[in-house]
Parts: sequence; structure tokens; C-alpha cells
Amino acid sequence: MLKLTDYGFEPNTLPEEIQSSQLAPIARITAVHRERYELVCDYGAISAKLKSSKYQGGSDTQFPTVGDFVQIDYNPAGDSRIIATLPRKTFFSRRDPTPGRGEQAIAANFDYVFIMQSLNHDFNISRLERYLALAWQSGAVPCVILTKSDLVEDYTERLRQVEVTAAGVSVYAVSAKTGAGLDTLSDFLKPRKTIIFLGSSGVGKSSLVNALMNDEVMAVKEIREDDSKGRHTTTHRQLFMLPSGAMLIDTPGMRELGLWEADEGLGELFADIEEFLASANCKFSDCRHESEPGCAIKTALESGELSRERWESYLKLKQDVSFSEDKAEYLRLKSARNKGIAMWSKSMKKSGGFKR
Ligand code: GDP
Ligand code: ZN
Repeated sequence: MLKLTDYGFEPNTLPEEIQSSQLAPIARITAVHRERYELVCDYGAISAKLKSSKYQGGSDTQFPTVGDFVQIDYNPAGDSRIIATLPRKTFFSRRDPTPGRGEQAIAANFDYVFIMQSLNHDFNISRLERYLALAWQSGAVPCVILTKSDLVEDYTERLRQVEVTAAGVSVYAVSAKTGAGLDTLSDFLKPRKTIIFLGSSGVGKSSLVNALMNDEVMAVKEIREDDSKGRHTTTHRQLFMLPSGAMLIDTPGMRELGLWEADEGLGELFADIEEFLASANCKFSDCRHESEPGCAIKTALESGELSRERWESYLKLKQDVSFSEDKAEYLRLKSARNKGIAMWSKSMKKSGGFKR
């Protein structure tokens, strides 16, 4: 029978008071349902409930999620009880939809983030940048998986684009259908490592899970490839053990995952832009780089020194960050930006500098 250490548990990373106390058995959450959790521990697969009055809370968020290591009151005859969530190595969270409840963890303790886009319809560089920012911020190592390689004849240009965007991150093209490229993922599919999939509905996450499981564990939604309209299916968050000994977390909630405090991740991703901004010599020290005279960013964009594409992705991502923090502020920024763009193009047209 598998031990908790096979599920990635590292006893020596525990806080000292827990290491020495050995108070309660530890388990890992493999699935979250409305009221009940599925877990694995050294007694095997168990189910547990959480009673607020007995729960000590986690350090980052209130409630445990899939991938979490928790302390339990073990009950061999029925539901065990979750009493505390151990500190997380990595996690994704979002703003809790219930007002006033703060942050809600979505998945925890993963080692690698597989950022997935399909090589045909879903391909989108600015979304990829957002995913990368999220992944870096989680504390885990991202890699990019371009799916459905069997549907595209020549994807060298897309692969190159992604490699430029995701500098320093491994990029793979795979097909769950033909199995092409799956062997290249073996570096990540190592025992005790946990992988999480990040990608829009329909990119082939379930198909890849099935291909890696050599089994039909996930219901694959048949979608019409001509318009990419997929049927929406809801599943609960789940952690699977793969034959290789690695684990997979599949979370249907990822699409709702706003960019919760993605500012940290932004710096890493847009280091070139932030550097440029830091040394930009605008006429006004509080220049917002929108329509102010003597704006160094505007000049750099015109001369091509600063890539317009990069700059716009940066603004877009910044906007999304604002959005998750404050909707009103987002709308203000958005209208200011649109006004800025309109004024800029008007002045460009007037000065005859509008290149086509
Ligand atoms: P998910 O929503 O990300 O889990 O995507 P699914 O795994 O459900 O796949 C969505 C659709 O894409 C289904 O119709 C799959 O059959 C199809 N699909 C997934 N992977 C591949 C692939 O590698 N090649 C091809 N041709 N189709 C694929
Ligand atoms: Zn400026």
C-alpha cells in the first residue's frame, strides 16, 4: 500500500512543533466535495469532514483544498475530522465569491504547473503571459504544453513565439490523440511530484490526463473542432496518482482564477518593460505614459525601441491585476487608457506619423 510519503509528504519540512508533537496523523486531500473531503494517509484512502468549531485554520486561507496536507482526527469507523491545514509549499487562490471572506485556496502543494494551450484554436500569447505570471507567483515551476499537435501541419513558428514569450521555461508540443511528444514530459512525471494543469476548457486537459493514466478517468467533452464550442461539464477538484508515481491535480475552477495579487509575478515576466520604465526620462515625473507631452515611452514606441506588442501586453496584464483588486479602479483605468489611445492616434494622424 502507498504511504503518505509516496504522495509527496516530506516529514522534515514540517514546522518543528508539529514534528516533535506527533499529535495527529497527517493526510493529503485528493478531492473536495461540498461537505466531504477524500484523503489518503498511512491508513489508506479515507473520507473526512471539517467542523468549524474544531478546525484551527490554515496560515494562508481558511479552508483546506485539494493537494493540502492536513492533520486529522482519525476515525477508523467513519468520517475522520480535519483539524488543521499544514503550511503550503505552493498554492493557487482566488477571491472568495462570498463577500467579506477574503482569499480561497484552489489547489496546493504542486511542484510543476503545466500551462496548456492548444496549437489550433486556443493559441493566445497574452493569455499565456497571464498564466505564466500566475504560475511564477504560485511558487512552482511552470512549463508550457502546446496540445493537439496532430491538428497542425507546421507549428514551428508558434513554438518559437512561445519560447520567446516564456523565456527560460520549457515548451513542449504534444498530442494526446497520437501520443506524440508525451515521452518528452517524463522529466516532470517523477515519483512524489505533483503537477497541476492550467488552461482553458477544451484545450485537452482531460485527454492528457487519460493519456498519462492509460485509462479513461476523465470524461472528455466532445467539442466541434470547427468552432471550438465545448459543452460545459462540471467535475470536482481532484488529485490523481499516475502510473509513473507522479500526481496530477485537475481543477475545473481555473478559469475563474482571477489574477490575485499577480504583481509579484508581473515583475518577473515583464522585467524588460519594468527596467525600461525605471530608466524612462519622461518630461513629467508623474507621467502615466498615456497622452502626456514629452513621454519617453511614446517616443520609444514610435522609434521601435520598445515593442508595441510587449507594451500592450504589459498594460493589459496590469489592467487585469487592477481588475481583481478593484473593479471601479479597473474601469477608470480602462477608460483612461482608451482615451489615451484615441488621443494618441489622433495626434499621430495630425502629425502624419501614423504608419500603416
Ligand atoms: P479539457 O476541457 O481541457 O479537459 O479538454 P478535453 O480533454 O475534454 O478535450 C476537448 C476536445 O479536444 C475533445 O473533443 C478531445 O477529443 C479533443 N482533443 C484533446 N486532445 C486532443 C489531441 O491531442 N488531438 C486532437 N485531434 N484532439 C484532441
Ligand atoms: Zn511617459
